[in-house]
Amino acid sequence: MQANLDSPVMLRLLSHAVSLARKSGSEIRRITLSGKLDVVDKSDGLLDYQTEADRLVQRIIVANVSNKFPQCRIVGEEQLDEDLKKDQTLLIDQYDRDVLNMAIPESFKDLKESDLTIWVDPLDGTTEFVKGLLEHVTVLIGISCNGRSVAGVIHQPFHGYGIDSVNTGGKETLGEIAKLEGRTMWGLVGAGCFGIEPKCAPGDRFIITTTASHSNANVEESIANLKPDKVLKVGGAGYKALLVLEGRADAFVFTSNGCKRWDTGAPEALLRAAGGQLTDSLGNQIDYTYGSEGDYHNTLGVIATLKAEIHSRVLKGIPESVKERLQAKAQR
Ligand code: AMP
Ligand code: MG
Ligand code: MG
Repeated sequence: MQANLDSPVMLRLLSHAVSLARKSGSEIRRITLSGKLDVVDKSDGLLDYQTEADRLVQRIIVANVSNKFPQCRIVGEEQLDEDLKKDQTLLIDQYDRDVLNMAIPESFKDLKESDLTIWVDPLDGTTEFVKGLLEHVTVLIGISCNGRSVAGVIHQPFHGYGIDSVNTGGKETLGEIAKLEGRTMWGLVGAGCFGIEPKCAPGDRFIITTTASHSNANVEESIANLKPDKVLKVGGAGYKALLVLEGRADAFVFTSNGCKRWDTGAPEALLRAAGGQLTDSLGNQIDYTYGSEGDYHNTLGVIATLKAEIHSRVLKGIPESVKERLQAKAQR
């Protein structure tokens, strides 16, 4: 669908982001089926991977957003050549109809392109992607204005993959991937969360989701002190946010640095749109001001929940020693 230029820029940008996220998902599945991931370690031995899918998807999103919304600021995870912004071969002219027809809160109606920053994690959960844990992979596009994350898209390209693992004994075939369409969820603070039905965890057991591949003493000590009944160690900030949004976990707890604004931008917007919250480990708001910090690290960690009382319980349960160590490290 084409976008009418009279529609508010926030709706046009969000609706284009939804279409771009779907297109990105199909490219991620295509590259997975080709078997040519072309994995690079970005961190010189620390196992911070980038694949052809991470690179291509960032190129698609950046080329399209900079072509159609030239005044909008873009922060993407991958370091790519500036000229790629001008790659005409990647352009698609698609806008999701449901988003364009959404009722928009008054406060977003008159925003200009230059008021908006987009935060792009082209493929969140790359460590798990490389290991074949495909359900953990998401494409994240967050939109911020006035330093706050207010809108976003989470696309899960392999949603449903491995769901029949009881029948297949975990031996899913590549043929199964070819049949997937993925699922796309988006949120706008004040308007709601779509493509997913947010619901709180039942509350009979306290379930925490945390990192599978970036744990350390601060994370382990915090989780031990919170005494959960169950811990779901999975990849990606996007997938952990989905577990909270679906009521499969009460809280996403990561009391360490390492997550960046492009990891939390879209998850925070969807959680806030659903009535939840995402803060650092001290309960502070995350600042999405463009240019505010060189590397956009969430140095004080990430805590996300749907229920305010669970959020307070988690903040209180994080040991003071962990909070002090995080603050000391952030000041260095
Ligand atoms: P995880 O929960 O480990 O999947 O991490 C969520 C997001 O934060 C992913 O995009 C990771 O790449 C990123 N991340 C977290 N910790 C680190 C770290 N120590 N080094 C590099 N990236 C990290
Ligand atoms: Mg990420
Ligand atoms: Mg990534």
